[in-house]
Amino acid sequence: MAEHIPKEFLELLLQRADLVNLVDARVPLRKKTGHNYFACCPFHQEKTASFSVNHTKQFYYCFGCGAHGNAIDFLMQYDRLHFVEAVDMLAKQIGLAVPHAKMQEKTASLQHLYALLDKVAQFYHTELSKTSHALAYFKQRGLSTEIIKTFHLGFAPRDVLSSLFEKKELEATGMLSQKEGKYFDRFRERIMFPIQDRRGRFIGFGGRVLDNSEPKYLNSPETALFQKGHELYGLYQVLKTNRQLPRLLIVEGYMDMISLFQQGVTYAIATLGTATTSYHIQSLFRYTGEIIFCFDGDNAGRRAAWRALQVIFPIAPDNIQFRFMFLPDGEDPDSFIRKTGKAHFEKCMQEAPTLTQYFFHTLAHDIDLTTADGKARFIKSALDLIQDLPPGILKQTLLVELGQKTRTDVKAWQQSKKTAAPLSVPKNSSASKRSSILRYALTLLIQYPSLAQHLSNPLDEDMSGADLFNQVWKIAAKNTSLSTGAILEHWREQKEEKWLASLAQQELTIPVEGLKSEFLGAIQQIQKQSKAQTIQKLLEKAAIGIISPEERTSLSAMIINKNKFV
Ligand SMILES: [Zn+2]
Repeated sequence: MAEHIPKEFLELLLQRADLVNLVDARVPLRKKTGHNYFACCPFHQEKTASFSVNHTKQFYYCFGCGAHGNAIDFLMQYDRLHFVEAVDMLAKQIGLAVPHAKMQEKTASLQHLYALLDKVAQFYHTELSKTSHALAYFKQRGLSTEIIKTFHLGFAPRDVLSSLFEKKELEATGMLSQKEGKYFDRFRERIMFPIQDRRGRFIGFGGRVLDNSEPKYLNSPETALFQKGHELYGLYQVLKTNRQLPRLLIVEGYMDMISLFQQGVTYAIATLGTATTSYHIQSLFRYTGEIIFCFDGDNAGRRAAWRALQVIFPIAPDNIQFRFMFLPDGEDPDSFIRKTGKAHFEKCMQEAPTLTQYFFHTLAHDIDLTTADGKARFIKSALDLIQDLPPGILKQTLLVELGQKTRTDVKAWQQSKKTAAPLSVPKNSSASKRSSILRYALTLLIQYPSLAQHLSNPLDEDMSGADLFNQVWKIAAKNTSLSTGAILEHWREQKEEKWLASLAQQELTIPVEGLKSEFLGAIQQIQKQSKAQTIQKLLEKAAIGIISPEERTSLSAMIINKNKFV
């Protein structure tokens, strides 16, 4: 999507935008130290302010959950906008005309698609009231008229959509399927669960058959509006109903979610026929302090639970409590709450094992901890997983508990395993020193892009990492008034983005007047090392007699000028 908008326009937009005002209008910023403003992070639950917005850099960063970005990112994350929508909104606020016809088209077409799905949802909803066997199904599942309305439940009759709506738009929203060149409605003779995003817009559907035909459940395909791994069913209704969410429960099916909602458990949401993704979970940190996963008690449920744990581990923040609830075999949340009632359901939920308890319990499942061999296997499999965790309280807790459970000094154990490990190739110390200087120069450049004007030539690209430095330098040198946030825009959706963002948030304690000499000093060191490396290479070639006459000339020139730098 990003390619439709010229980079120059994005640069201009981010130059004019004021991130501090933009954030402050949504999340009041308070404390100020230097150029940094702080607030409690809107993207995860916390009590201390670890969300910082830097006015000079036009860049925000959360030290708790790692959320970061420029003004466009903030609108995308906070207002839940698509990239083009965020650019459009920012442009309107600043009073810039959106330059690109294609982009206007894109925004307009997204709006058309939302509007279309809104109409389709209303159509299905009306059809339901006319279709007694479909209504009977919901009634038999115990759903009230009010709940049917709240969730806009509906019924898709036979092939009708093409005769009612624009075919091209239907196709773009995934409402049509094609078979042997013929189009027909994707959902036919199914009861319908419209899927809304967290702003309440209709983005797709799930449909269930009323007879025994297959597939029993069918979802909209991935479209411009709908990405399964991003959306959670019911979140809109949950957020609308609860001003505060002390906990959120994640279940697997639409009917489970709706049924729990009707029974008064109004804080459950469902994944959409996919396993839980890290995106799902991270997007929930801003709403709650406790996330409970509810799984069936069978083997499939246990496998799904372990997968969820592996998704949570690398991203788990310290301030979120995770629990894993398992239902008795043969029950689903809907049947279980009907049988035992809300109070019992909630009691089971509150007593469900925490992430730590579940982790150790599952690992120890078929290991005999009374034997030395069992203990070693247990420690090894635990450490393999704990290693993935970011440093923090959870990691510490797991390590301490691992030590207590096995009565072992885990640190010493880790150490002994390290020394016993096969010899690794020793790190080239000069190479790592060089890369750290290059990283330092890049950190300075990304935080103070105007430094680019002091360097007239790109770095020698033989060094690893020099090409990325040169790309940043090129952009910054071309337009010396760009902020950090505007530079990072060039790496949207690219793999280097995270790395550059981590450099952008590092705290540098250099006074402004010392920046230029600090930067040039680092560059000089890089060039010196690069030159020494070239000389070394040529000397090696000369020693074994494979040096060319040109190389020999340049070698002697370099040795003569060894301490001069260009
Ligand atoms: Zn955060």
